[in-house]
Amino acid sequence: MLATAPAAIAEKNAYEVALENFDLAANALDLDNNVRAMIKYPERELAVSVPVRMDSGKIVRFQGYRVQHSTQRGPAKGGIRFHPNVTIDEVRALATWMTWKCAVVNIPYGGGKGGITCNPKDMSAGELERMTRRYASAILPIIGPEKDIPAPDVYTTPQIMAWIMDTYSMMKGYPVTGVVTGKPISLGGSLGRNEATGRGVFYTIRSSCEKLGVPLVGARTVVQGFGNAGSVAANLMFEAGAKVIAVSDTKGGIFNAKGLDIPAVVAFKNRTGTVAGFPGAEKISDAELLAMECEVLIPAALENAITAANAGDVRARIVAEAANGPVTPEADRIFDQNCIFLIPDILCNAGGVTVSYFEWVQDENHLFWDENDVNAKLEKIMARSFNDVFEIHVSRHVNMRLAANMLGVGRVAEACRVRGLYP
Ligand code: NAD
Repeated sequence: MLATAPAAIAEKNAYEVALENFDLAANALDLDNNVRAMIKYPERELAVSVPVRMDSGKIVRFQGYRVQHSTQRGPAKGGIRFHPNVTIDEVRALATWMTWKCAVVNIPYGGGKGGITCNPKDMSAGELERMTRRYASAILPIIGPEKDIPAPDVYTTPQIMAWIMDTYSMMKGYPVTGVVTGKPISLGGSLGRNEATGRGVFYTIRSSCEKLGVPLVGARTVVQGFGNAGSVAANLMFEAGAKVIAVSDTKGGIFNAKGLDIPAVVAFKNRTGTVAGFPGAEKISDAELLAMECEVLIPAALENAITAANAGDVRARIVAEAANGPVTPEADRIFDQNCIFLIPDILCNAGGVTVSYFEWVQDENHLFWDENDVNAKLEKIMARSFNDVFEIHVSRHVNMRLAANMLGVGRVAEACRVRGLYP
């Protein structure tokens, strides 16, 4: 008889992870089943066909989505992702996390997310613009400053937000800057928005270091995904005196035990499109990077980077989830056993949506703030939110993920209750 290989541990997809984390929080809060039924699942889902005339003259049809998970505490809010792996379940997961995230930082929004299954890296600027505008008109009936406000996410940019704003405004017949955030500064964007996610990540790491007694100066830091969130967080860690020893992007990873010169890595990436090949650094694989001994590991790429298969290899004191959903529930349990302190995504990367909120407030009031003002308000909200989550972590003896989910889910349930949606 042939020996059978042990069954691989089936990892859950991002939406199954989001539902599992909701159940854990709802159980810890002892939430009534009627309330769970009301707040667990997306309120509205729209799947759209996006036909685009390519430069060759051929029409290609792309699949797009917009999911509004919740509007209990305010309009839906969440980014738009252009990526080959976009699926309805991924968009549902990201929309669900947005609901709890906005509640954790206590800004008056629900959660939404959108995406198109495509590879923008293989498209010309003209193709990208035509696809964006067609998608914007397809989701137009359900978006708007009072209904649902998109923003950038993976592989979407301020320029793409400007095209969405323009398409929406053409349909309305007047300029509506508050329909999207993450816009260029010249079109109602907020100072500080581009750096806000990485800045918020940095604030939560600094708070964690203070609580755990880990010196920030000299802290060995590793970053997976040197994009918007990852590179800004890396740069702020560098400026604070931490030693950023390894970073990566899709084309490869680089390592220097003495610490990388992050502004130079940023300049190199701007020039070449990747960190790979940065002079004076060794090449490392993704697996080696995630297993590196360090004080702070920042997964800043995509979901499910750290699963049951590799969580046991992680040798960081603090894991800061700059990305959404990079650590699965099975990996959370391994982190707990190994006393790794996790800063969960819905707290860690909430700086982005917080400054998106500031942008929307500025647009709606036609009154703009200077960058110091934006950063000071962001710092205050991140510090308060970190303390709120940490207090639940300590008082309820639960890990930081569960503490954050309890805070977020609890606030949404309370909003439903006071609206009179359940007795
Ligand atoms: P981005 O496109 O600017 O950067 C993503 C980076 O990850 C790119 O450099 C890419 O090369 C790299 N990457 C992808 N897969 C990788 C892998 N397997 N190994 C190493 N690198 C890899 O996107 P972003 O806006 O920085 O978003 C990154 C994450 O942060 C996403 O999970 C996103 O949802 C989350 N996030 C972003 C914001 C924001 O405001 N940008 C806000 C909250 C959360």
